[in-house]
Amino acid sequence: MVESRSQGEPLVNVSIGTAAVLGLAEVWMAAAPTTAYLMLGGRCLMNCTFCAQARESQASALNLSRVTWPEYPLELVVQRLSEAAARGDVRRACLQVTVTRTSFERSMAVLRAVKAASGVPFDVAILPHDLEQVGQLVEAGADHIGFGLDAACERVFRQVKGGDWTRSLSLIEETARAFPRRAALHLIVGLGETEREMVERIQWAHDLGIVVGLFAFTPLRGTHLYGHPPPSLASYRRIQAARWLIVHDQARVEEMDFDGEDHLACLQGTLPPGGDPFETSGCPDCNRPFYNEQPGGPLYNYPRPLTVGEADQALQEMEIKTKC
Ligand code: SF4
Repeated sequence: MVESRSQGEPLVNVSIGTAAVLGLAEVWMAAAPTTAYLMLGGRCLMNCTFCAQARESQASALNLSRVTWPEYPLELVVQRLSEAAARGDVRRACLQVTVTRTSFERSMAVLRAVKAASGVPFDVAILPHDLEQVGQLVEAGADHIGFGLDAACERVFRQVKGGDWTRSLSLIEETARAFPRRAALHLIVGLGETEREMVERIQWAHDLGIVVGLFAFTPLRGTHLYGHPPPSLASYRRIQAARWLIVHDQARVEEMDFDGEDHLACLQGTLPPGGDPFETSGCPDCNRPFYNEQPGGPLYNYPRPLTVGEADQALQEMEIKTKC
């Protein structure tokens, strides 16, 4: 059952922005989350070099990326979440799950509790053991299973995550085939992959009908990769634009030009004027405010629609031609 702080009451972590929307905390927010972000934390059995929750991480166990996730009684969170969903303040919920001996059972308990109280679409970002576990989550009402593959290619996967690349890919592929449109894939830009490797991975996911959520590598104090720089804004903008063209079937990676260092050199296809490609990507209504950046910017993922000026600037920031 979900760990308890005292008196046996089950607890769950809630991102500080979500806690504010649910009325559990008072914090000023430049942009509010439109998805309620919950977490089953606790030191992970995995040891991903960029992650605050990793086995050897010295970062706070209440952190995921640069965000704090205080703990609250699960029952109270479920009640507040269903009220916020009824008000329309949140349009989705997502549970981040670190790998522990009981994480699957605990995730099922949270999923069932939320689904019993609210019809809000609920995603679970977890490392399932096999397709059987994926099936149990979908049957219990999970809308998407979020796979933290994070690395775009095997070379980087081995360096930053460890584990079995081939087995990870095949479980994601099996899920996409067995449960169409229920898989989401997290990819982190800036872990050492080339732009071509990232765009090829995005194309692979799109061809399988998998939702792609892009994250910008964020150096975190206390993790092994703290000294590693975040991706350049130009590179991140190019990847965002390529993702948008691919998922809107405007272009394929095979039609894009790359230079000698596998940087995107030219994007075939028409980008929309309004800046949509530069908003947070992933499941519908997943906006992850300031998950990878300071509110003061620069913003890798815009958690809200861009202004006309921001949209123009984001296109300039790509530093490439859009007519090949
Ligand atoms: S894309 Fe967003 S809502 Fe979907 S699984 Fe990932 S974090 Fe959750």
